Amino acid sequence: MSDDISGGLVGPREAFDLLLSGNQRFIDGAPEHPNQDAVRRAGTVTAQHPYAVLLGCSDSRLAAEIIFDQGLGDLFVVRTAGHAVGAEVLGSVEYGTSVLGCPLVVVLGHDACGAVAATRAAVENGTTAQGYVRDVIERVTPSVLAARAAGVSGDDGFIDTHVRYTVDLIMERSRELADQVDSGRTAVVGLSYRLAEGSVRPVTSRGLDLPSAPAPATAPGSDNL
Ligand SMILES: [Zn+2]
Repeated sequence: MSDDISGGLVGPREAFDLLLSGNQRFIDGAPEHPNQDAVRRAGTVTAQHPYAVLLGCSDSRLAAEIIFDQGLGDLFVVRTAGHAVGAEVLGSVEYGTSVLGCPLVVVLGHDACGAVAATRAAVENGTTAQGYVRDVIERVTPSVLAARAAGVSGDDGFIDTHVRYTVDLIMERSRELADQVDSGRTAVVGLSYRLAEGSVRPVTSRGLDLPSAPAPATAPGSDNL
């Protein structure tokens, strides 16, 4: 549990509701741009009390504070291509939950993800990437292999599998996070974002009872990088 900047107590469920209501404003084209003024800026100089850690893909179309209509001090954002997870990412997530007291961790994947598409190409066609991009692809590869083994063919299925894999991975790798979820202080939610609509769909959750919605049957394919 953590005091938010206005002094109220926010738990995992309240944090999730805050995030979803902001996303709904964004979907509706009616953002309020909260906590983005000079008063908020001044009020967050000496301390921050974000209510959620957002671990998402670096994709430029997935700008966290915009798509969830949030402001300064609201979200502790960790983004890597394909939300690939390494030690620094795990440390950043733990900093958000253990030091800053965030009651919610969101793993945010999205359709038409270039990192997932490049990994599929690497697995299916034997293509390779240059430099450290190869490292990203190696970290996404287990998800692609698992999706293929499960008979997944569409883009959404691969994205959902990678979101689930990432949630499982951070829970498995971080004892700190797993303990926080066990105690009910923190929840972890995997969401899939749809670029065209700006909407999120729950894929999986730990410590929060959420119905996971299946991917729409008419999902557009997207293998573009
Ligand atoms: Zn992506």
